[in-house]
Amino acid sequence: MEVSFLKKAGLSECVPAPSGEGKKNSLSPDEAGYVRDVLFERARCRAQEHFGNRIYVRGLIEISNICRQNCRYCGIRAGNALAERYRLSPEQILECCEHGHGLGFRTFVLQGGEDAWFTDERLADLLRRIKSAWPDCAVTLSVGERSLASYSLLRKAGADRFLLRHETADPVHYAKLHPAAQSWQNRMNCLRSLKACGYQTGAGFMVGSPWQTTDCLVEDLLFLRNFQPEMVGIGPFIPHAQTPFAGFPSGSVERTLVMVAMTRLLLPFSMLPATTALGTAAGDGRERGILAGANVLMPNLSPREARARYRLYNNKLSEGAECADNIRELRKRIQAIGYEIVVDRGDFKSC
Ligand code: SAM
Repeated sequence: MEVSFLKKAGLSECVPAPSGEGKKNSLSPDEAGYVRDVLFERARCRAQEHFGNRIYVRGLIEISNICRQNCRYCGIRAGNALAERYRLSPEQILECCEHGHGLGFRTFVLQGGEDAWFTDERLADLLRRIKSAWPDCAVTLSVGERSLASYSLLRKAGADRFLLRHETADPVHYAKLHPAAQSWQNRMNCLRSLKACGYQTGAGFMVGSPWQTTDCLVEDLLFLRNFQPEMVGIGPFIPHAQTPFAGFPSGSVERTLVMVAMTRLLLPFSMLPATTALGTAAGDGRERGILAGANVLMPNLSPREARARYRLYNNKLSEGAECADNIRELRKRIQAIGYEIVVDRGDFKSC
């Protein structure tokens, strides 16, 4: 981690300068390790000031892996002819919610590819059914790029939050990760529309995606500071064998944790998950994410057959502590590092 990186992000005041303060642009491995540890500790303390030792859980329901988009990194991209496609019916989704509610989940995240079957009318109907059956629950949508009118209609039908990672704040980098038909400008416009509709809005990015530079990450942090999302998803890039990026290496777990910690310091009140990708890249990734300032976990509530097919990257976790049914195992693991999973909607609060 370069000193220049911290300075550019305006975060030099958050970490102690090693000896030779201000003069060097790079650190020895020992110095870098020290700076990282202090950064994680400060981020953890900042999270504890606002959330105590509470960890919020969201039940993730992967509603469809059918997608019209062709993101070059993603295993469910339209161009992957080998992906076994599926779509959950509204009844199956409602069953997942019912099961999740019994397990103590008070937020359901409906995530999927950009599947044209999920028209505004069908999604709105589903939202109304979920909200009338479980009025104590929040619903988060993560169904990609839509029009302002569509976001507005879905918000009125009951969606509380929307996750749409910006993927990268650098338009040149964005163009390397996506085909020309997918524009960075549209992604940004969508994020602005979501905020304008009153959603608690989630942005985010992968760490270590192909051609990502340190400057790209600085841009990501500056974007977050400017946009002030209520939620931020940050996970390592992990290659998928049937994508154009199959041959690229995975992003670094350590660097992902640094970005989580910096995001916590920049946005102290944000809801920040220890992501599935982090848990996939390292067996103790969730715990390390929490110890670097994360405060949210998103176990999987999808039916088992669907989980296996919602394969965004190689070896994506969907069993063990990742599976919502095993919330007791997850609770124990989280208790072992001094935190408690709570039964709560876990809405964003700015104080
Ligand atoms: N279609 C919706 C969208 O675009 O927001 C939601 C589904 S999309 C698959 C969810 C997220 O998965 C993306 O925003 C991306 O950051 C992440 N993702 C996709 N492929 C990945 C990979 N190979 N490694 C890590 N994360 C990946």
